[in-house]
Formats: sequence, C-alpha cells, structure tokens
Amino acid sequence: MTRHILTAVAWPYANGPRHIGHVSGFGVPSDVFSRYQRMAGNKVLMVSGTDEHGTPILVQAEQEGVTARELADRYNRVIVDDLQGLGLSYDLFTRTTTRNHYAVAQELFKTLHRNGYMIEKTTKGAISPSTGRTLPDRYIEGTCPICGYPSARGDQCDNCGNQLDPTDLIDPRSRINGEVPKFVETEHFFLDLPALAEALGSWLQTRTDWRPNVLKFSLNLLDDLKPRAMTRDIDWGVPVPLEGWENNPNKRLYVWFDAVIGYLSASIEWARRSGEPDAWKSWWCNPEASSFYFMGKDNITFHSQIWPAELLGYNGLGAKGGTPGEYGTLELPTEVVSSEFLTMEGKKFSSSRRVVIYVNDFLSRYDADALRYFIAAAGPETQDTDFTWSEFRRRNNDELVAGWGNLVNRSISMAAKNVGAIPTPGTLTEADATLLDTSKAAFGTVGALLERSRFKAALGETMRVVGEANKYLSDQAPWAMKDSAQVERRDTVLYTALQVVDDCKALLTPFLPHSAQKIHELLGETGTWSGEPEVREVTEIGGPDYPVIQGDYAAAQARWASRPIEVGRPLAPPKPVFKKLDESIVEEEIGRLEGE
Ligand SMILES: [Zn+2]
Repeated sequence: MTRHILTAVAWPYANGPRHIGHVSGFGVPSDVFSRYQRMAGNKVLMVSGTDEHGTPILVQAEQEGVTARELADRYNRVIVDDLQGLGLSYDLFTRTTTRNHYAVAQELFKTLHRNGYMIEKTTKGAISPSTGRTLPDRYIEGTCPICGYPSARGDQCDNCGNQLDPTDLIDPRSRINGEVPKFVETEHFFLDLPALAEALGSWLQTRTDWRPNVLKFSLNLLDDLKPRAMTRDIDWGVPVPLEGWENNPNKRLYVWFDAVIGYLSASIEWARRSGEPDAWKSWWCNPEASSFYFMGKDNITFHSQIWPAELLGYNGLGAKGGTPGEYGTLELPTEVVSSEFLTMEGKKFSSSRRVVIYVNDFLSRYDADALRYFIAAAGPETQDTDFTWSEFRRRNNDELVAGWGNLVNRSISMAAKNVGAIPTPGTLTEADATLLDTSKAAFGTVGALLERSRFKAALGETMRVVGEANKYLSDQAPWAMKDSAQVERRDTVLYTALQVVDDCKALLTPFLPHSAQKIHELLGETGTWSGEPEVREVTEIGGPDYPVIQGDYAAAQARWASRPIEVGRPLAPPKPVFKKLDESIVEEEIGRLEGE
C-alpha cells in the first residue's frame, strides 16, 4: 500500500555557513529516510528551508555591515549549495522570508488568537541601559533557576533543556557587553500552553514508538507548562497580524513560532510550484499520512511541544475549544526523530574558536558519499559522538574502499575481463544459494530498520552482507579457475557475486546515492538510478528571485527490492568508485583546524 510520508527537516539558520555537526543531526538522517521511503514505493514530501528571522541574524548582519535581508540572501544561497552538494533530496528547500511563508504563519497566528490560545500579557522586556535598545532573550545570560547551570540563556537552558524567560535568570547579564539589563514593561502575545497541556499529554502518551530519550524528555516538559511568549520586540520578522500590531515596526512574531510553521508553508509552496495547489493536503489533512521530523536534540522542545501545541490550538482541540482555520484540521507529528551532538576531535564545534569544518570546505576535498557514510556509520544517532580525521580516514579506507569498493571492483573487473558481460550461471551450489538468499533477505531486515530510523544498524546490516560477499569471493577464488572445465563454475561464482553487488547497490542507495549511480553504470545499466537534487532559481510574484532545492525523484529507477541481473549485458573494466585517503590528510586537516 502506498503511504504518504512527510519528511520535515529542521531549518538551518541562515547566519553563516553550516558545519558537518549540523548536517549530521538533521541532514543525512532525513535524506537516508526519504530515499528509502521513495524506493519502497511511498509518496514522500521532504521539505525544509533556511530559517532567516530572529536576533542572531540581526547581530551577524551588524557585524558584517549589511542589512538582515542581505545577510539572509547570502547565507540562504551558501546553505542551498552545501545541502545540494551533499545530495539531500528535498522536494522543496525554500526560506522563511517568502510572502507565502508570511501568509501561512499569519493564518496560524490569527486562528490561534481567534480560538483563544494567544493571550495578551504585559511582561518585562530587557533593554540595554547604555544604548536603550531592546536586548533579545538569547543575548542575556545568567544562572538557570532550575538546574543551576551558570551560562543559561534568556530563552533556554542548554544544560537542562528547559525554556526560560530572561527574568527567570539569576544574576542576568548582557552577552554583548556584560552589563546588567534593565527590565521594562512591554505587551506580548503568549501561547496558552496550560490550556493545551491535556491535549498535548494525551497525544504524547500515544507516541510509544519514539526513541525513548525523546519521549521521556517530551513528557517531562509537560510537568511545568507556562504560557510562552510568541511575539518579540524586534524589527525583523513576520508582522503580528492584528489591528494595532500589524503596522508596529517593533513587534514581530517570535522566530521559533514562525520557523516550525515552515514545514507547512514549504509544503504549500511545493504544491503551488508543482501546479496542484491542494496537493499538500494529502500529507497534512490526511489521518492515514505519516510525518517524521528530523533535528538535533537542542530542538526537541520546539517539535514535541511548541509545534504540536500550535497545531492543536489551530485545530481547536485544547481546553478552550475552537474551530480549525482555513486549512482545515492539520495532523500532528507521527514521530520526532532527534539526533544527539557531534563533537570534533573531542571539542564542541565553534566557529569563533575555529573548531569547525564547514560543509563546503569538506566537499571541496572529499566526496559527499564519504561524509554520508561516516555520519550514517558513526554519527550521533543515539549518543554524542566525536568526529576525528583519523577515524574518518579509517572508515573510508577500511570499510568503503577495502570493503564495498573492493567487492564492486573485483567482481565487475573479473567478469569484464573473462566474459565481457554478465555471465550465464550454471547450477548453483549451496554456497551460491546461501549468499543470494542473504542479500535478498536483507531488503526485509534493513528496510525494517530504516522504517524505524535506525540508520546505524541498517548500514551495519548491509555492510555485513558486503563482508559475506567478500568472504565468498575469497573462498571460491574464481581467479584460480583457469581450466576450460572450470569455466562454468567460475561464471556461476561471478554471476552470484554480481547479483549481490546489484542488491547491495540498492541497499546502500539511501546512504550512498552518488556511488550507487556510478555502480549502476558500471553494471552496464543506463539512465538515472538514484535521483539527485538540483538548485533551481525561482521567482516570487512581486518578490526577488531565490534558489530552491528540488528534484525529479519519481523518474529515478531505484527500487527497494532485489532485481535479477540481466545475463549477457556487456561490462567494461571498472574505474574505482571510492578514493583511498592518504595518511597525510589527518595531519593536514588538524593543522587547518588549529589555523597554523
Ligand atoms: Zn537549566
């Protein structure tokens, strides 16, 4: 049965280029998942974009001497190129500064307000005493009142994960100049989380198949729900769509309120661009559809609490009742799939301290599939993990090159040299049949793991099949079968090996799409095996051009099944698919990190 699957990928923040820690959390896992689901015959809608509002954009723009819009334009383009280069197969990767996004975010706000879930309150806002300017929450630092962490931010404590208000902090100070902020009265709209707590709790109780850490964290958040401010004193963002507020240049929707709405607005934009303006409803207004949200663990709160609360309030399903807005009843997340953190040579990523590898630097020196392999095999799926150059090199050389690359290379080159085509098999021995059964059965076991976002285990299981095929070749030693009496047996062994190569190519396609396409061609096939994302320039009516990522993935041949290879199809001697990395790269890269 064909299912509708929404892959909702965290929105990278457009205040600078993204590093490999970012893409290991949201990027590669969501793409592996989507590619697998498409191969399995499901209708996938994978959406995201750059998150371009909020204070850090303003602060960075000031540092670079440009406007917020210019800064967002610049890094939107950089990030689009990086994610496309990594092969992330978005159906639409857009941005939050489009008119479409503004309209969708405002529709959600208006309906939440009409249903009674946006309450106006007078609150204390921080200003800088020396400049008189608004001091945004995240630029206030102090001691967390909940866990005592000394460097909690005004919006959130990174240690215990709780959301905070700057007035909660003990000993608050400005992160910009260290001064003690002054708190003045200001009006804001708050999302009435207590009125949505019961509905949120009932929904979370049904999410039993989430990763245990994510579910536990999310349930804990319910214990102390307070109304949460969804507007800010800031002049960059989506205007508050209410009379008396709309034209106030210093009041805007909170960046996280509008960023999570991006999943919906991007789906609506995708539908409009594909010529079927209502097509997004098959994912959003369809109780049979599934939605999977991919992110790093620092964003769980916004996806397991704030976004579901916005949706419940929009649907009119909280304690205050209400009716859905113009989009109708919208479905809540099926699963929030969160990754842990990637560190770098034992340290936290930091652009300012140069503990960082930007995606574009990485891709200028190494293949995208080498990074995708490392992230899937050794990334922070369920625990914090460390990226080291020596481990990257080891996995590339020992697993990709000497494992999978070697299997591809020796089986195709032996068949090309001795037969010039995919050979005709004779009678299969038990060893042949066992190996063929193993790789065929892997579609079931690996598919079940990918279905549950267990990427590391899925890749491990596939590489185990690769290992068995390599052992089979060594045991059978077809290169030693030189007599004419041994030709039939040699051809049977090579046929068996090539069938397993074709199976493993398919099994590895979600992880290694670029090399899968090459192997598809080395096996004598033509056409597109694994569809690749493209950067396309699009125009907004009355707005500027901007780049988006899209792709014609439905035209790709890749399917999640073992297909019999075509006996007699011509084969040419292969070129190596993966590159071995020299020992010297480890020292060179560490030297780059230290800035020499
Ligand atoms: Zn804390």
